[in-house]
Amino acid sequence: MSYVDEVIAQVIEKNPAQPEFHQAVKEVLESLRVVIEADEEKYRKDALLERIVTPERQLLFRVPWVDDKGQVHVNNAFRVQFNSAIGPYKGGLRLHPSVNLGIIKFLGFEQIFKNSLTGLPIGGGKGGSDFDPKGKSDREVMAFCQSFMTELCKYIGADTDVPAGDIGTGAREIGFMYGQYKRIRGLYEGVLTGKGLSYGGSLARTEATGYGLLYLTEEMLKCNGHDIKGKTVCVSGAGNVAIYAIQKAQQLGAKPVTCSDSTGWIYDPEGIDVALLKEVKEVKRARLTEYAAKRSSAEYHEGRGVWTIKCDVALPCATQNELTLDDAKALVANGCIAVAEGANMPTTMEATEYLQANKVLFAPGKAANAGGVATSALEMSQNSERLSWTFEEVDSKLKNIMVNIFHNLDDAAKKYGMEGNYVAGANIAGFLKVADAMQAQGIV
Ligand code: NDP
Repeated sequence: MSYVDEVIAQVIEKNPAQPEFHQAVKEVLESLRVVIEADEEKYRKDALLERIVTPERQLLFRVPWVDDKGQVHVNNAFRVQFNSAIGPYKGGLRLHPSVNLGIIKFLGFEQIFKNSLTGLPIGGGKGGSDFDPKGKSDREVMAFCQSFMTELCKYIGADTDVPAGDIGTGAREIGFMYGQYKRIRGLYEGVLTGKGLSYGGSLARTEATGYGLLYLTEEMLKCNGHDIKGKTVCVSGAGNVAIYAIQKAQQLGAKPVTCSDSTGWIYDPEGIDVALLKEVKEVKRARLTEYAAKRSSAEYHEGRGVWTIKCDVALPCATQNELTLDDAKALVANGCIAVAEGANMPTTMEATEYLQANKVLFAPGKAANAGGVATSALEMSQNSERLSWTFEEVDSKLKNIMVNIFHNLDDAAKKYGMEGNYVAGANIAGFLKVADAMQAQGIV
């Protein structure tokens, strides 16, 4: 059995009931096969793959908190410190009822390669809890965040592990967590990113993932002879990534016509009204039915369906495994030319293979959504310098980083004989830097 196959089999055996983690490892290792097999004995002797698929540390803890009626609740919480070869652990905190150890491990594993691709000195980590902030009062969310941070603060720090937002963790939650960290540790330091502007946050961090997604998509289209201007775009999700992807797509002259949340989706042939979407989602935290009620050109549909709309470019920005093989078939049948992942692993493996086989340009999340973590690293730099850069300065650094990421993965794909396979290019480019650092640092 080849070394890659052996390690995939071991991961499945040693980490039962973690299908998302298996999927992420399989996808990465399959595309590294050509690199590993060129020097298999060396990698095997150093157990490099076993080390890279095994987190350096996994923290599991309970989070007790009291609701507004005096009832005590207990949630499970996780922080997986996956790999620190190239910098302190860095990765978001997800608050969603679906969170479990396998999901956090899949996200942490992906984060290693994504962070490496940014070219910035950040290792890979991820965390979260099965707490659901939806429908909770601000006081209940604060109670949860304070209890969560009371335990987590023992294991993180500006030079060791710097968490950030993710699904369910926005500016409100980061604020509550930061306050509790400062209170317990007595340190005013850049331990979290995604902070508010009045206490160390970076301009353009809120917009970064969505904007970065569009910068990379624009470059990918340009290098393949297309212009983003005038393109019809389908977006899923209606959260942080989706909203700013829609905004930047419009600024670049494209027309985003859909968005979705966990209950339904909008088709707005006139183009999504970003101000209204922000009002519904960021201010009122309401359902998309409210968007449709206020916009005569919009249709609201229950359930899933965004990918049935004819478009040139598809941007899945909600959650993992939301774009299936059937969706990929519908996109291809409708003439879609490019898919770029705003969310983490939103496209199933079968759907990815189908899109690639049908010559759809495909940018994987670990490259396409790296703008968020890259700007988080820029927030860390500003905190260390005790300075704040302007919006334009951060945005222009973000754009450079995204354009560079695209060329890194394009070059890596070409170098290993897989031109146009940006999944392989991203995994290879991300892996080589981390593997080099791990080998230089000995068996640790
Ligand atoms: P938000 O919580 O702001 O928004 C998530 C959106 O996706 C919401 O519209 C939500 O609907 C929808 N959604 C979430 N879970 C499901 C589900 N199981 N089924 C259907 N819809 C769902 O999160 P973000 O925008 O921050 O994150 C979106 C994705 O992007 C995630 O995969 C995240 O890991 C990834 N990402 C985020 C980064 C960031 O900087 N924020 C950086 C890099 C990646 P509803 O409103 O109904 O909950």
